[in-house]
Amino acid sequence: MCLGNFLFIGIVLNYLQKTIMNPFYLSGIGIHTGRALLARIEPAEANTGICFWREDVQGQDNKIPAHISNTANSMLCTRIENNEGIGINTIEHFMSAFFAVGIDNVNIYVDGPEMPIMDGSAAPIVEALLKSGQRQQKYPTRYLQILKEISVTGENGAWARIIPSTSLEICLDIDFPDPGIGKQKIDYSFSTSSYIDEISGARTFCMLRDVQNMKHAGLAKGGTLENAVVVDGGKILNDDGLRMQDEFVRHKVLDCIGDLFLTCMPIFGKLEAFKPGHAMTLNLLHTLMADKSSYVIKTNSKDISTIRGFANLPNVAAIPA
Ligand SMILES: [Zn+2]
Repeated sequence: MCLGNFLFIGIVLNYLQKTIMNPFYLSGIGIHTGRALLARIEPAEANTGICFWREDVQGQDNKIPAHISNTANSMLCTRIENNEGIGINTIEHFMSAFFAVGIDNVNIYVDGPEMPIMDGSAAPIVEALLKSGQRQQKYPTRYLQILKEISVTGENGAWARIIPSTSLEICLDIDFPDPGIGKQKIDYSFSTSSYIDEISGARTFCMLRDVQNMKHAGLAKGGTLENAVVVDGGKILNDDGLRMQDEFVRHKVLDCIGDLFLTCMPIFGKLEAFKPGHAMTLNLLHTLMADKSSYVIKTNSKDISTIRGFANLPNVAAIPA
C-alpha cells in the first residue's frame, strides 16, 4: 500500500462513531450508598449513544440514556433519570472516560442506583476501555461547535462560561477554605493522550468535616480513603498523599469533561469556570442548549480526530460502511 492510501484511510476512519470491541465488567462500592455494585459494559449500535440500564429494576422502564435532558437534581454527583423517575447516580467519571477515549455508543448495565466509584478517578475505566479495544461504526460522529458566549452564575461567587474555540479547552479556578486544597488553577487543552496521562488519575476529594456531615445525612456511606482524597485542617489524610500536586483542580477537569459529554457530542469550545461544580456545569449546558443561536451541530469533520487524538489509540478495527 502506498503512503497516500494509508493516509486516506486514516483520515476517513478518524471521524466515524465508535463503540467498544469487547464487553467488560467493573465492580466496586457506590460512594453514596456504600453498596457493592457490578457494571457490565457492552458494545452498542451506532447512533444509540451512551445508555445506562438498571438491572435491579423490574416492571418499570430501566433504560436511562445519558443526555442533558435527563439530568436530575442530586447532591454532589451527576444524576440522570428517565420519564418514570428511574435514575442512576455518579455517572460523571464513566462519561468522562467514554468521551476521552472516543466512545460514542455503549450500553452500561448496573445492578444498583449508582456507578461504582473504584479509586475515585477515571483511571480504572480508561484502562478497561483501552484493554477492550474499539470498533469503528459506519456513521459519522456529530460534534457541537460553540458560536457565542453563554454564561451562568452559581453560589458564593461561582461562575461559568463557554466561548468559541477550535478545540476543547477547560480553564478552571478553585478556591477552598481548607489550605490543604486552597486555590488551584488550570488551563487545560484536551487530547486523549494528555487526558490519560494528566487527568484520568485525579481522584475525587472532600473535606473530613463534609464527609462527617454527609454520613450524618445518610450520604457518602461508601466514602473512604480508598476512593477519595480526604483533607482536614491543611493536611491530606491519605497515607500516600496526592498523586499530583494539583490533583484537586485536575479532578474538576475530569468532572467537567464527563458533564459536557451529556450533550452526547464532542464540543468545540472553551469552558472557563470559577468554583466549578456539577450543578453549575449542567446549568450552563441547559442554558446553552436552550439558545439555538449559540451553537451549531456538525458532522463530517476531521477536526474531531484532532481534539480526541484518536490516532494514538490501539486496537481500532473498522467496519466497512
Ligand atoms: Zn468527580
